[in-house]
Amino acid sequence: MYVGRFAPSPTGPLHLGSLLTALSSYLFARSAGGEWLLRIEDIDPPREPPDAALAILDSLQAHGLEHSRPVLWQSTRGSAYAAAVQQLLATGQAFHCTCSRQDLAAGQHAGRCPRSIHPPSEPAAVRVRSAGGSISFDDGILGRVTIPAGEDSFVVQRKDGLYAYHLAVVVDDAFQEVSDIVRGRDLLDSTPCHLRLQELLDLPRPQYAHLPLLLNDDGHKLSKQTHATALDPDRAESNLRRCLRALGQELPPDEAGLGVAGLLDFAAARWDSTRIPRNDIPEATLPF
Ligand SMILES: [Zn+2]
Repeated sequence: MYVGRFAPSPTGPLHLGSLLTALSSYLFARSAGGEWLLRIEDIDPPREPPDAALAILDSLQAHGLEHSRPVLWQSTRGSAYAAAVQQLLATGQAFHCTCSRQDLAAGQHAGRCPRSIHPPSEPAAVRVRSAGGSISFDDGILGRVTIPAGEDSFVVQRKDGLYAYHLAVVVDDAFQEVSDIVRGRDLLDSTPCHLRLQELLDLPRPQYAHLPLLLNDDGHKLSKQTHATALDPDRAESNLRRCLRALGQELPPDEAGLGVAGLLDFAAARWDSTRIPRNDIPEATLPF
């Protein structure tokens, strides 16, 4: 059974780049006769403006992207993340670290860092050792990918007690039995951490597919940080057409007037993931 998902952090409104990810994962799932889930990754309250999550839900609805099951809110999943951290500590795969960012920038832990499975008296992050070397996997868009495992360890629980993205995403993809993860290529570097956690927590490895990114006029990824424009729900059909064009998909004639639902039906029936470009796409090349 194909189970896909879209999992935004509610740090701001959806923009064309996030719609590209949502639409792609939706069409992958729908064309496979599977389910498409929505998960709100609200695990970092200081970065989440009030009502951002509701604005995302409204925006997805305006664009006709209906999810198959009730929304999973990560803010309700703390006990599952705590259990995963305990499991990692109990098996000696994780350790407590009191280092500051500056300490670690020197390339090693400070002498006073406990690096122990037992919690110290001062606030400590919990880190997991990386696999080391490089990691290879078969990506649904990029083909065979080999990337460095990255730093020697990565955070699964922060000093302030909040759970890290890497941990929450892996625990919840397994919990929701997600079979296929379609996401932006900016997350490619996170994949070794996710594969590592799946291995250590004895969870199944989903299939990954990493999408090209939409770039602004300065060549940067569209994001909240680069002040990407919020999607206008009154232009939903046009927004979807721009994303389909970015994905290299067949489009109905402009005058077809299919509406949002009709356009999604058309796109799902003709979905061809082999046409997705491998290179990032300047937004300016996508006419309205
Ligand atoms: Zn340390």
